[in-house]
Amino acid sequence: MMLPCSAALTDSGVALVIDQVQAFLGRPLRPNLRAARRAGGGSHPGGGTVSILSDPQADPSDAFRLTGRVAVVTGAAGGIGREAARLFARAGADVVIADRDEAQLEVTGKEVTAAAPQARVLVVPTDVSQKREVDRLAERALSELSRLDVWANVAGILRHGAMIDTTEDDLAAVVGVNLKGVYWGTAAAGRIMMAAGRGSIVNIASAGGDMPTPNISVYGLTKAAVIHLTKTAAMEFGASGVRVNAVAPGFIDTPMVAVHWTDDSGHTDVEKRRSMLELRAAQAPLGVTGEPADIAYAMLYLASDASRFMTGQVMRPNGGVVMP
Ligand code: NAD
Repeated sequence: MMLPCSAALTDSGVALVIDQVQAFLGRPLRPNLRAARRAGGGSHPGGGTVSILSDPQADPSDAFRLTGRVAVVTGAAGGIGREAARLFARAGADVVIADRDEAQLEVTGKEVTAAAPQARVLVVPTDVSQKREVDRLAERALSELSRLDVWANVAGILRHGAMIDTTEDDLAAVVGVNLKGVYWGTAAAGRIMMAAGRGSIVNIASAGGDMPTPNISVYGLTKAAVIHLTKTAAMEFGASGVRVNAVAPGFIDTPMVAVHWTDDSGHTDVEKRRSMLELRAAQAPLGVTGEPADIAYAMLYLASDASRFMTGQVMRPNGGVVMP
């Protein structure tokens, strides 16, 4: 669908665009949000009430709160997902944590409760590469916690190897988790959130999605695809009040990257770890590598009403290592 440039739009041009968008969506657009804002009521994309951001007396940190909301986090048994689940719960959300690693997922559940005793925590072992499991995750979140406001697609895997040596299994495994997993998660969340007229989806991409990198070709292409699918979903879901954004981290010290300094028996080579972290830090203008919290706070911003005007965007907490 080709839309005229907004700068050249007349009133009749606007009406034509609205007709085209409604025909494309197969349903009417939501009522004018600006009018709703002027009237001091109505919901805003992302699920927030209008008043928090417009109230000059409000505590600015309130816009970042997730009180009363339900957030699903996949990949929650690992570094970034675990930190995001903890932070969302500390910000007031009830959380649904999903991962295929059941033992570590239970650990996350305990850590979330320790960090935020008021939060309800639903633990749902899930293989995100399987559409039926992702759909079941969404159904359980809705049926057991009664609503769905935030969905963070964090689960991911990394396999190293030259393109000429990549096997069918390598390609299928990485595409299965990093691309299909995010696709099915976005679709399952979108289905529920669009019906509710609110919600925020946060997809984890990577600096490797912007920057072609030798020996992680399949990983990089899945992350580039995550950025593209995020923008497409933002187009499809926006008129229903659902926002979709991505976070593309730089190098973060998590179990995923520990393969660089861990041998097959699980032993950590401390010297190798130190030199790898130093090397990665030296590649970034800030001269440091990141921690899971650096990513979780970007995710909290996108999950919350503070970012209510953002959709289809990519945030890049990466120390400056890529600036596309
Ligand atoms: P991690 O390995 O600690 O966490 C990834 C989690 O995904 C693990 O708990 C794993 O069990 C889970 N997972 C894998 N396959 C799954 C499946 N089929 N179903 C459900 N869960 C599955 O790694 P992390 O660094 O915390 O990675 C989180 C996300 O951040 C990933 O998408 C990763 O690509 C991305 N990322 C990480 C870095 C980094 O430097 N660590 C950089 C950029 C992007």
